[in-house]
Amino acid sequence: MPLPTAFEPGILRLPLFDEEHRVLASRIERWCVDQQDAWARPADAEPAERCRALLAELGQAGWLGHLHPGPRDSDLRSVCIRRQALAFHEDLADFVYSIQELTAAAIIRHGDGEQRHRYLSGLAAGTDAGALALSEPGVGSDLAAVALAADADGEGFVLNGVKTWIAQGDIADVCVVLARTGGGPGPLGLTAFLVDGHAPGVKATPIGAIAPRSWAELTFTDCRVGPDAVLGKRGHGYVVALDVLERARITVAAAAIGFARRAYRHALERARGRRAYSGRLADLQLVKSALSAMEVKVAAASLLTARAAWMADHDEDYGKHAAVAKLHATEAAGEIVDAAVQIFGAAGLVADSPMEQLYRQVRSLRIYEGPSEVLEMIIADAL
Ligand SMILES: Cc1cc2nc3c(=O)[nH]c(=O)nc-3n(C[C@H](O)[C@H](O)[C@H](O)COP(=O)(O)OP(=O)(O)OC[C@H]3O[C@@H](n4cnc5c(N)ncnc54)[C@H](O)[C@@H]3O)c2cc1C
Repeated sequence: MPLPTAFEPGILRLPLFDEEHRVLASRIERWCVDQQDAWARPADAEPAERCRALLAELGQAGWLGHLHPGPRDSDLRSVCIRRQALAFHEDLADFVYSIQELTAAAIIRHGDGEQRHRYLSGLAAGTDAGALALSEPGVGSDLAAVALAADADGEGFVLNGVKTWIAQGDIADVCVVLARTGGGPGPLGLTAFLVDGHAPGVKATPIGAIAPRSWAELTFTDCRVGPDAVLGKRGHGYVVALDVLERARITVAAAAIGFARRAYRHALERARGRRAYSGRLADLQLVKSALSAMEVKVAAASLLTARAAWMADHDEDYGKHAAVAKLHATEAAGEIVDAAVQIFGAAGLVADSPMEQLYRQVRSLRIYEGPSEVLEMIIADAL
């Protein structure tokens, strides 16, 4: 049996995918393999610097080109394919890709012509970094409680408050910021804004993370924006946030599959090569059981994710399916990585070894863009 690569060909052959998806999968897989030597070099640069460099690489290679104004926006299955390949090969490449995608999706789906024209070409070229700033020190899962104030001032608004855990927050050139404009209680009083990350009154403070990333707290102090900064309609910020998050959940599931397949590949390789009890680890029945569980979990995650992405691409009601896919794929990825570390034994715990990195990289997937418990609530409510 060949070692797993980023994709299971049997799943890509299903009618849930088209020929263009199969071509895309093989192109991006080949590109990632070509980058492997450069990506494998120990990075002495700070995460923010590495993220900037990776954005430029992705932009130059054209992997962000679908974010450019003009051509149709990419279908979600293609986004999933890109994330799965990038997550399989390089955590940070998937990270920056996903945040550009998230920011651009908000602008493509809710921005006006002027906003698209102003922001999308830089995001697509990888020369500008985007960020989606929803969470606050006092608000995470319960986004309806967002408190950052956007007070009307003449024709514009003045922003005051703090956003936190913001991916690419310390390198962002443009931030989608969810803020309270009043005019209604809870979710009804929220508006999304497009804010220049370098504007006066915006201060980014990097946050260290379990897996190195560009991650920051953003403080807004009397940050003035014009009326043209409103993304979508005033009072519709919650709708913008949920729309973007719901689609993104499916792509998080795809990234989880990429991470899981990487762990599975390493575990299989190790079990075949490691001598034990006059044979190989792979000959032990309990190790075979662990490997077969990986195969089942990753295949199920792939099918659930393909179903959710297909439904989103065909304008079907996909909210529950997005939650099912993310819940299963991210939980499965956690279990698979843990089981793979177990197969490696102590070698899986060596600092900065591939398994130890995976163990850290995969943890956040079960928290961001909907913690598992929130997804369970969504699924139950839909039943
Ligand atoms: C790697 C990473 C990147 C991130 N990037 C961004 C970003 O770019 N922009 C941004 O705005 N935010 C970002 N976040 C923040 C992320 O969106 C929040 O962490 C997430 O929404 C959860 O909020 P919280 O951490 O405040 O947890 P809380 O809301 O305090 O929840 C804590 C825990 O309570 C439980 N819980 C919550 N709600 C329920 C419920 N309804 N029922 C049962 N249990 C529940 C869950 O176990 C949850 O993990 C990022 C987080 C991570 C880890």
